Amino acid sequence: MTKVHNFSAGPGILPQEVLKQAAEACINFDHLNLSLLEISHRSKSFEAVMSKSRQLVKDLLHLDDDFEVLFLGGGASLQFAMVPYNLLRSDGKAGYVNTGVWASKAIKEAKIIGNTAVIASSEDSKFSFIPKGYEIPEDLDYLHITSNNTIYGTQMSTFPKTAVPLVCDMSSDIFSREVNGNDFGLIYAGAQKNMGPAGSTMVAVRKSVLGKTGRKMLSMLDYQVHIKGESMYNTPPVFPIYVSMLTMEWIKNNGGVSHIEKLNNEKAALLYAEIDRNSLFKGTTAVEDRSKMNVTFVMHNPALEPAFDQLAKEANLSGLRGHRDVGGYRASLYNALPIESVKVLVEVMQHFEKKQA
Ligand SMILES: *Cc1c(COP(=O)(O)O)cnc(C)c1O
Repeated sequence: MTKVHNFSAGPGILPQEVLKQAAEACINFDHLNLSLLEISHRSKSFEAVMSKSRQLVKDLLHLDDDFEVLFLGGGASLQFAMVPYNLLRSDGKAGYVNTGVWASKAIKEAKIIGNTAVIASSEDSKFSFIPKGYEIPEDLDYLHITSNNTIYGTQMSTFPKTAVPLVCDMSSDIFSREVNGNDFGLIYAGAQKNMGPAGSTMVAVRKSVLGKTGRKMLSMLDYQVHIKGESMYNTPPVFPIYVSMLTMEWIKNNGGVSHIEKLNNEKAALLYAEIDRNSLFKGTTAVEDRSKMNVTFVMHNPALEPAFDQLAKEANLSGLRGHRDVGGYRASLYNALPIESVKVLVEVMQHFEKKQA
């Protein structure tokens, strides 16, 4: 098989060894001579997967015992609704920081549920930076932030300091850097960017922030119902959960999040250095807010794009086109992407510059 350098923004690259284990489990899972896909989620073998997955999240995010971890269906987008539904009191107020498309979608849902204030936004400058230095009202039920903006290529290097419960959409940078999960009231992440296949969303929530809305709750949208059911109130998305478990084990076996973070820093530094050096390309975001996961860049002369695309294709670089809202290029450098792939991209950019000279 030709080696393809996979820069896809999501679903994104997964470790080769994880894919091999996952493929095997589809045929013969846990020496049962049955597929993972055709056994009961109440079987001992799958219950072990679920409890291990939940524990691995706790380990990797250093979560204390107030936290419960869930793997739910519906994507990160369902969390845009579940968060306000479970946390926003009928006479309360939610605060949001608007840093991109995903944050905007989260705000839209919260406004349907209750009183929602956008307390900071970078919308006026096309989400090219992370707002800083804003006041956080003390009476918020929670403050919602997006740690990494997958489409615009910005990332929070630090998180707001507040006594208000902090809710964070970490879909595209979960487990990419050391985070003290205890600083948050709730963390959620769709699996398909940096954790596993599409179809499951990880939610880590403090029990102490729940049960305060006074709202009559629909069961499937109630975190407390899912907690009581140990994340198996209904049939969970078994395959994405299993593969997420394998990826988390892979992280643990490869030096843990701190080591992965070091590699991610090296990958991002290498690519940004080339973007800044190369006379044909430029970055699209404020330098201090550059994402280490989704590196966005454009060509000074967009007419050259087809020629660069051709070169990229010949070098087996895949998934580099920017999001349709932004254009240009986006190289996603998720955990499983080897630095060799970044080196190939940098070589292609250098080669292209020479060709144009
Ligand atoms: C991809 C993404 C989402 C949406 O995830 P779905 O699983 O498709 O609902 C939400 N937030 C962020 C930051 C994302 O990158």
